[in-house]
Amino acid sequence: MKKILFSTLLFSQFVFGRGISPDDNIYWMKIPAKNSYERTEISNTGAVIESVTAEYVTVLAKESEKAELDKLGKTEVSFLMTAEMMDFPNNDQQFHNYNELFTAMNDLANKHASILKLDILGKSANGQDIHVMSITGAQNRTIEQDVPAIFFVGTHHAREHLSTEVPLKLAQYLAEEYEKKNERIMNLVDGRVIYIAPLLNPDGSEYDISTGSYKMWRKNRKKNSDGSYGVDLNRNYGFKWGLEGASSSPSSDTYRGTGPFSEPETQAVKNFVESHANITSMLSFHTFSKLVLYPWGFTHNPIEKDLDRQVFETMGRKMASLNGYTPQTGADLYLVSGEMNDWAYGDRGIFGFTFELDPASMWEGGFYPGQKMIEPVFKKNLEPCLYMIDLADNPYRSVQSQAQQLGLNSAMF
Ligand SMILES: [Zn+2]
Repeated sequence: MKKILFSTLLFSQFVFGRGISPDDNIYWMKIPAKNSYERTEISNTGAVIESVTAEYVTVLAKESEKAELDKLGKTEVSFLMTAEMMDFPNNDQQFHNYNELFTAMNDLANKHASILKLDILGKSANGQDIHVMSITGAQNRTIEQDVPAIFFVGTHHAREHLSTEVPLKLAQYLAEEYEKKNERIMNLVDGRVIYIAPLLNPDGSEYDISTGSYKMWRKNRKKNSDGSYGVDLNRNYGFKWGLEGASSSPSSDTYRGTGPFSEPETQAVKNFVESHANITSMLSFHTFSKLVLYPWGFTHNPIEKDLDRQVFETMGRKMASLNGYTPQTGADLYLVSGEMNDWAYGDRGIFGFTFELDPASMWEGGFYPGQKMIEPVFKKNLEPCLYMIDLADNPYRSVQSQAQQLGLNSAMF
């Protein structure tokens, strides 16, 4: 939703009291300007003129540009823009910005209070809350730590907005189908704890849409020592950190950070996983390329433990057969270090996968395939997600023989 109403501006200013980030403040300004000469004087400050009337212009101005404009002595109205005012381009309004996502999760928690709780995973570099939903049968709440769990994480990378929508839709689907008494979903939700954090990188994601047109931003919005911004959160995890496939240069899009887990976003994942020993499985959503990835990412060598490698390969193949993607190790794509699933498995023994969602290529929309993709991409990834939830009690079940598995499944359901 686009809302540039004064009451909304004032309200959100009052409630949130902050800009996108202290170093990146953007002001909405109304300045009288009656002709091209006066408008040029305004645009010469570097501020972006958003709208023009016969009497005035509205502009978006950075801190320094606002100072220049104020010197002209004509400013009629100016407001510090808050994250809430910044939104997706008009033709992509079905995507959820930070506040719309929070509202959607909050609605779910209110509507399905018996099975869905909304909590805070941690804080972003700019101090925004990172949210996590937990979904499980009401009878499990007092023994949650003893119930097998899976953790879904969306949007490490800011511009990969589809990777926020898919996990959000998964939460909505599970909650709604449970209420409809869909037997399969009831069994899964009653037998597992399903943690879903749709947006790990709220600062970067908001920055990417902060001007109404996409910025192709990938990293978080930490200010680096050289004045550049951002750490690649999926190169910042503390297992084999700092090896190949992660840059030591702060301005690089794959900057690994100053040390393992230097970023509050990855620290939040670490703390959450370490304090929830019931998590056996993780799935990280990214875009794009239509791939199912699993460790290792940091080396071309295969996983040392035969049985574990078989589990990864079997689950990877099965999920790829369900969503039509290609299964492979991360390193098969290119070497990366400090990636989430290498850490999850290498440090915690958790079976962690990455889905590189649709589309297949830049030519089909790349990071910005449009809102028409939200529903079909969710639908094709639903079965792989349910498959992982099912196996979260014991991922090794994936490699047991068909007969054994049938026996186990019929005993469970
Ligand atoms: Zn990514």
